[in-house]
Amino acid sequence: MKMDKATIADVASKLKFRTQAFINGKFVDAVSGRTFPTEKPANGQALAQIAECDEKDVNLAVQSARETFEKGLWSQMSPADRKHVLLNFADLIEKNTMELAVLDALEAGKPITDCITIDVPETVDCIRWHAEAVDKLYDQISPTGPDNLGLIVREPIGVVGAVIPWNFPALMAAWKLGPALATGNSVVLKPAEQTSLSALRLAELAVEAGLPDGILNVVPGFGETAGQALGRHTAVDAVTFTGSTEVGRMFLKYSAESNLKRIVLECGGKSPQIVMADVANLDSVAEHAVNAIFWNMGENCSAGSRLIVHKKVKDALLERIVKLSKQWTVGDPLDPATKIGSMIEKAHMEKVLSYIEAGKAEDANLVLGGNRVLADSGGYFVEPTIFDNVDNKMKIAQEEIFGPVLATIAFDDEEQAIALANNTTYGLAASLYTDNVNVAHRLARAIKAGTVSVNCYSEGDMTTPFGGFKQSGFGGRDNAVHAHDQYTEIKTIWMQFS
Ligand code: NAP
Ligand code: MG
Repeated sequence: MKMDKATIADVASKLKFRTQAFINGKFVDAVSGRTFPTEKPANGQALAQIAECDEKDVNLAVQSARETFEKGLWSQMSPADRKHVLLNFADLIEKNTMELAVLDALEAGKPITDCITIDVPETVDCIRWHAEAVDKLYDQISPTGPDNLGLIVREPIGVVGAVIPWNFPALMAAWKLGPALATGNSVVLKPAEQTSLSALRLAELAVEAGLPDGILNVVPGFGETAGQALGRHTAVDAVTFTGSTEVGRMFLKYSAESNLKRIVLECGGKSPQIVMADVANLDSVAEHAVNAIFWNMGENCSAGSRLIVHKKVKDALLERIVKLSKQWTVGDPLDPATKIGSMIEKAHMEKVLSYIEAGKAEDANLVLGGNRVLADSGGYFVEPTIFDNVDNKMKIAQEEIFGPVLATIAFDDEEQAIALANNTTYGLAASLYTDNVNVAHRLARAIKAGTVSVNCYSEGDMTTPFGGFKQSGFGGRDNAVHAHDQYTEIKTIWMQFS
């Protein structure tokens, strides 16, 4: 695929934004007629006006999802037929890779190279994986005597509300849509207010691929209105949420106060990267560690934001990390050479900068960066920032910054490393680096996190479940067949023979 500057600029100049809500297979204005601006965070200018959905629009979308679900157009279709539609959907996404990549780069400030080579391919892979899986999974028969037959079957849960964040707009949509649609549900998707464009385009492509009208609806708008209305709707059977722990908690409340809908939460993190003294290849560790914190500007739930490193190798490792970090160029998200784009919005950039100030105030040692850069562009850019001599009790070690800020914490022995790693309210991911397989296994078991990667920074792939321990998650997992548990009910059918 051509991904030079001129090609990308050409795609960007020809884009036609879909800005209305997508309900029952059609683009429609919000009932109120209201719109809100979506911004290009790389220059602070408005990109487009988006339909501002509220409770009324959510009601229409849920009604459409409910009716189509009950009619069985999709929910009763054979898994093999659903597979074919979803494979068409994946092919169409792939065909439109450049367009979707540019939409996410423009609206979220993400580096275009990442969007083209990671976000969109993983979006395609996710839809394809769940499509391929769904006609290969068997239900169960219970161990009865000869006079009975106990069938344990899975059925789609019904209407799924999906509420997602802005950091991987197309990909987070796919993480929900892939398994929810493959298992036969109808979906109402609420994208983050900062990033609606790729979700709206995905819905259009799904219908073009053969998804019946009303199975996938998209209601752009604000969390407090559209998000809350989905959370409280009594005809919604489940909400799958990715976002902050603070908002995730609200969905549990919405459910408790409405219809006890199932809630699955994928929330924040403060993930440790533990480096033991025995590692011989510090160059490799440095490369992974830099990627872990600076990829996607650190706006990544599983960012390796705490470097927990043995005293003996700390200085040698930090020297390499600082050197590599300088190669992470900050710049225009649409420039293929850019490694670090802009923060999502002004308020978030200010929050990240205030954490940097908090680090300095608590006497952590700033060894790289620490500033807003490229301010002349009007965009919200923050340079890669590294603190040394951080105490795990400090604010920058405890709170999720969601920006390019690394906190380095030293330790003396393995026990201390484990205690530091686990001393957090989060438990989403962790990386550990050691050349000793016994230590690797011991630490991997001791760390309380949903994904532990060894000698690399990784979230696994579509074949592995993703989600958090402690306050990083609740109720289920994304990805792999484990994600299907979120979107299916288990039914027992008990038969007696005479
Ligand atoms: P957020 O503020 O929690 O928002 C997430 C979604 O919830 C958005 O669609 C948002 O709408 C909506 N929302 C906000 N307030 C709401 C309310 N009162 N009621 C109902 N819905 C509401 O998170 P974010 O700032 O978009 O994303 C960053 C967070 O996501 C970080 O904490 C990050 O760790 C987490 N994250 C987790 C994972 C994971 O898999 N574990 C992956 C990616 C990101 P608005 O956009 O209108 O506010
Ligand atoms: Mg928000």
